[in-house]
Amino acid sequence: MKVFVTGGAGYIGSICVEELLNAGHQVTVFDNLSEGHRMAVDERAQFIEGCLSDRETILNAVAADQSEAVMHFAAFAQVGESMTDPSKYFRNNVANGINLLDAAVEAGVKKFIFSSTAATYGMPDTGPITEQEPQKPINPYGESKLMFETILKWYRELHGLEFVAFRYFNAAGCSEKLGEERRVETHLIPNVLRVALAQKKECRIFGTDYPTPDGTCIRDYIHIVDLAQAHILALESGKCGFYNLGNGEGYSVREVIETCRQVSGKPIPAIEEARRDGDPARLIAGSQKAIDELGWKPRYATLEQIVDSAWRWHSAHPNGYSS
Ligand code: UDP
Repeated sequence: MKVFVTGGAGYIGSICVEELLNAGHQVTVFDNLSEGHRMAVDERAQFIEGCLSDRETILNAVAADQSEAVMHFAAFAQVGESMTDPSKYFRNNVANGINLLDAAVEAGVKKFIFSSTAATYGMPDTGPITEQEPQKPINPYGESKLMFETILKWYRELHGLEFVAFRYFNAAGCSEKLGEERRVETHLIPNVLRVALAQKKECRIFGTDYPTPDGTCIRDYIHIVDLAQAHILALESGKCGFYNLGNGEGYSVREVIETCRQVSGKPIPAIEEARRDGDPARLIAGSQKAIDELGWKPRYATLEQIVDSAWRWHSAHPNGYSS
């Protein structure tokens, strides 16, 4: 199929592009490079540098491209920043995304695949979380993604645009060639591995008084290549709707740091700090729906495999894409 991918220069988007191409699809990447990297765009893909806020540009680009499907990764994704600058999140993740949806409808695109998030669930008190869990986001980032999910339902009903929206749990790990490099890094695994690379003295544990066995937050980490595979299955299936993506296993912050120590063979000192605002204690996915309906089979489901792939990329690219 021919697929138009927004945010294809970012962490998740670039690896999905790589997997799409490996599976024999044709790809056009549309990205403004505000967070992504030109070097991360697979050379087999066509690249358009452009911004979703520019309605005419995106309408023309999707119409000219004649893709059968759109995958929409372009979004801001820092929870903390969304609390201090909500306008940035609603404007980009919702308003600019509507330009893309309109472009897809006008161009007769058959399928729209959207990157949503477990942050739409807010603070669930039980797990594993299924797609039926009430969605009560606790920050503008999660709210912006939920708003877009709602808009997708209406565009399907009123314009017939079929969609699959994936609610990602904690995407992590790297492919052989492509990895995780952000202008500002807030995520746990890349921050811990920076200590292993001697780029930082110590890593930080945000909160040790959560109601979990070791007092630190528990998350469900999913390998980026497994996540990409789900997108390819969605493209090829006739399914429509919302799907969680996670492994159904939770690991605490301390367990993640310990795994990074084992994989890297470095001591990785850690300091304990206060809780970070807006962090739920425990987020574990129920992904049975993706397994049953899309035939999704995660291949790199253990934390060791995930961290190992990240360590291999980060140690080969200590300065990210400028290495
Ligand atoms: N975390 C931490 N130290 C860090 C970064 C993250 O203790 O340097 C914790 C964070 O508070 C959360 C978990 O690690 O409980 C995963 O955070 P991350 O930002 O990687 O993903 P999120 O779950 O927020 O999407």
